[in-house]
Amino acid sequence: MRHLDASDRLAIRQQLDLLKEQVLEELRASAPSAHLMPAEDAHEVKTHADEAEAERAADVYMAEVEVDYARLEEIERALARMEDGRYGICEDCGVEIPRARLLAQPTAVRCTACQTAAEARHRT
Ligand SMILES: [Zn+2]
Repeated sequence: MRHLDASDRLAIRQQLDLLKEQVLEELRASAPSAHLMPAEDAHEVKTHADEAEAERAADVYMAEVEVDYARLEEIERALARMEDGRYGICEDCGVEIPRARLLAQPTAVRCTACQTAAEARHRT
């Protein structure tokens, strides 16, 4: 990562640490909340609508957690690449990822062209 100087690396590193904190915080905050757990002493008769609502909420929760874990993985991968000196090098074609792209998106592991190609592959 010759194209990144020490202060760039430090800034990106801090950015990644911050992102990681945020994701971990979101994961803690989105842990199943009490209202999703049927209370033992609830006197109200549970309706089908209630059950459907609880199920829907559980689905949303699972989807959110999946997104958060995927983000956490990206952040960890970027941090690991920073450790072993491969940070800022496109994972697919090996070119240096432009500094501006890295500063804007610290978790980027591919150059824009490869990222676009990878996303196109995911869609098909
Ligand atoms: Zn590339």
